[in-house]
Amino acid sequence: MMDAKEACGVFGVYAPGRPVAHLTFDGLYALQHRGQESAGMAVSDGDLITVMKDMGLVTTVFDERKLSGLRGHLAIGHTRYSTAGSSDWINAQPVFRGVGRTGFGLAHNGNLTNTDALAEQANMLPGLVSSDSDLVAELLGQQFPPDLPERTRAEHAADLEQALIEVLPKVEGAFSFVLMDADRIIGVRDPNGFRPLCLGRLDATDEFDQGWVLASESPALDVIGATFIRELEPGEMVIIDGKEIRSVRPFPNERLDPRLCIFEFVYFARPDTTLYGNEVHGARRRMGQLLATQRPVDGDLVMGVPESGVPAAEGYALGSGIPYGQGLVKNRYIGRTFIAPTQAERANGVRRKLNPLRENIAGKRVIVVDDSIVRGTTTRAMVKMLREAGAAEIHLRISSPPFQWPCYYGIDTPDRTELLAAIKTLDEIVEYLDVDSLEYLTLEHLVQAIDAPGAGFCDACLTGNYPVPVQVKVELTGRPTVTVAAGSAPA
Ligand code: SF4
Repeated sequence: MMDAKEACGVFGVYAPGRPVAHLTFDGLYALQHRGQESAGMAVSDGDLITVMKDMGLVTTVFDERKLSGLRGHLAIGHTRYSTAGSSDWINAQPVFRGVGRTGFGLAHNGNLTNTDALAEQANMLPGLVSSDSDLVAELLGQQFPPDLPERTRAEHAADLEQALIEVLPKVEGAFSFVLMDADRIIGVRDPNGFRPLCLGRLDATDEFDQGWVLASESPALDVIGATFIRELEPGEMVIIDGKEIRSVRPFPNERLDPRLCIFEFVYFARPDTTLYGNEVHGARRRMGQLLATQRPVDGDLVMGVPESGVPAAEGYALGSGIPYGQGLVKNRYIGRTFIAPTQAERANGVRRKLNPLRENIAGKRVIVVDDSIVRGTTTRAMVKMLREAGAAEIHLRISSPPFQWPCYYGIDTPDRTELLAAIKTLDEIVEYLDVDSLEYLTLEHLVQAIDAPGAGFCDACLTGNYPVPVQVKVELTGRPTVTVAAGSAPA
């Protein structure tokens, strides 16, 4: 059960004549699973850019009255979890920078790995950078030419694009950006493509011209009636304005190395999202099927931990021939993560989130399929709950390999000292969780289940092979902070 926080959700729409704020609301609502701390949008009518953002869920931040006041022909939006920068209003996005007579907004999914160096380049004093996204906005703003009185809006037209071409090659780490100025929206995917970003089209109707949409995940296109066109390529920048849609490659070729986060397939993305050309749900089912072949065990019932463990459990049942059933009911009004900050509160959070179906479990040998174990606290509480409900045996099956390294690319994971698989052996984990057996899906089977031949993945949290150098604190060995080169892990 993933108790790491997710990334963020980004969205953008260029659709003159259509209610862009409402479309952005619907898109963000479909991306709510990627971030539940704050939500915001920036809307332009060509003259005025209006930004509205606040702490809370999309439905808390926006209502009909607010949306109807946000008029324009383009908009971008964001749902946030804090990965770099605290969970405060100041860090809610989109970030806005006013430059001369114009301005721009930026929405970021990911986490930069060279923030200190960039802050130095921007001449920002330590402590002045409130988030890595804010820093990128600052660097972009510095690229804009001085606002000479005679400078017209038309002369500002290429400023944001030019600024991005200057700044992006200096930025390292994970970033899917959606940006806007008065007249265009721009999507950018980092050269590794750590986080997803896709392009969709709103077809022309009798009433409206054709429009374009950018979104972290394809269901945000479906929900507003847009057609999925394609995923942006790693290292690609797409510019959408009234005249055209253009693709630019601002990064040097040697930096292009596709490494989509493998955990998007395991847990983060919605099951109905298309990644690397495949629907995520199918990949999760195949993970379960392959898991069933790895270490067969006798059982009476295969059950998934709601909700992301369910497709893999269905696959496990298919692969093993053991009947699938429900063993836990999830309170559907609770978020995907626990706000509770301590281990004890996190364990209590399981009771708020899940409740056992006693008649289905009592006296049975249950095979419980979950997507991952991070700290193990919530998994342990869930196992205790199943034992109390009368389970005769509990065989835990995990549809990903052991999570052993922190993520530095946009997921808020704990230090290594808190990652169960980093601090305990398999036998110790079995004992700690109080299960009868435990099996993790192998990395080879995980890649096989995703079924995207030739595609590149980041698997750093599973292998310690960080594709982009990161600052890693080596708490386990007591050594001081070290910089780890690409492709290697600290001892
Ligand atoms: S370290 Fe893990 S969670 Fe982070 S981007 Fe890589 S695969 Fe995804």
